[in-house]
Amino acid sequence: MKDVEKGRKEGVPGVEGVVVDGRVWGKPLVRLSRPAPLMGTVFIGVIDRGTNVLQVRPTTLCNLSCIFCSVDAGPSSRWRQAEFIIDDVEWLVTWVEEIARYKGVRVEALIDGVGEPTTYPRLVELIRRLKESPWVESVALETHGQSLDERVVREWERAGLDRINLSIDTLDAMKAKMLTGVEWYDLERVKKLAEFIARETRIDLHVTPVWIPGVNDEDVPQVVKWAVEIGAGKRWPPATVQKFLEHRHGRKPPGVREIPWNVFWRRLREWSRELGVNLIPSMEEWGMRYARKVPEIYREGDVIRVVLVAPGWLKREVLAVSADSKRLVTVVGLKRWNPGDEIDVVVLRSKDNIYVARPA
Ligand code: SF4
Repeated sequence: MKDVEKGRKEGVPGVEGVVVDGRVWGKPLVRLSRPAPLMGTVFIGVIDRGTNVLQVRPTTLCNLSCIFCSVDAGPSSRWRQAEFIIDDVEWLVTWVEEIARYKGVRVEALIDGVGEPTTYPRLVELIRRLKESPWVESVALETHGQSLDERVVREWERAGLDRINLSIDTLDAMKAKMLTGVEWYDLERVKKLAEFIARETRIDLHVTPVWIPGVNDEDVPQVVKWAVEIGAGKRWPPATVQKFLEHRHGRKPPGVREIPWNVFWRRLREWSRELGVNLIPSMEEWGMRYARKVPEIYREGDVIRVVLVAPGWLKREVLAVSADSKRLVTVVGLKRWNPGDEIDVVVLRSKDNIYVARPA
């Protein structure tokens, strides 16, 4: 990304594979590579939630400022204190393969994240390497589409990308600028590219508007209708609707409240009937199935030794590597710390191999 300033590379004493290299939007940019573990946080690396889909998160960067962003991404972020990127594509693919091997299934590698995956400079290489792996059945990518052009899409197609999950939240150009929080978001261009993907490439298109109650109630069904009309859903369902989620550290448009799940599902059933499109596809329709989950290594209450390596992605958090080098761990509640400090921590949260801990 153009906004990345080059700075002095600062390695972490005693820890290989973690380097703070320059700044982006005034925040440190932390680069991960072999042999740093690529599992353990929600924001970078690989997440296994017990199905044949693995979430692959190569970067936290995003160049939009969506006003509803539940992960507070982009230049206008208030809660983030650092951004992260995985430099080493081979290492990331190795983690995907090792996890898939343990699960005993060929997986879908879903490239997503707490940022915009298309900002990842080595995305084509990542898609190609994932697609070449005998452990990967399909490769999908989530995007808001702001950085696409036909040449890029063709590169992804040649690299073997199977599906693009495109988030378009309205068909109104001005509203799209308002929702994405940037004047330069060009909805017409994104729509044309969506049509190009659906009609002229082998890549499937799946459209995923976020429903923000009271803000785009009329827009969501229009987006779904448009998705079907342009030919989305060659192999997977053409569209699903995402729920607006309120997070403590997320962004929320003024006056908007998160609705209960039963209200959300009821509205989706109504839209499905009205539009003749199933907006609540089953796991089978998605090609999803349960698959053995990589067991958590540490349990809540365990005391483990970690090495502090970098600021965490959110304020008042620190990223650590477990002393056995098996997982990343987010440490909260530290007043002072230095890169390379080794401390004991108590695990507070342990779910899906995502760990949060505090000093013991
Ligand atoms: S919703 Fe997605 S595209 Fe929008 S700011 Fe957040 S991470 Fe970026």
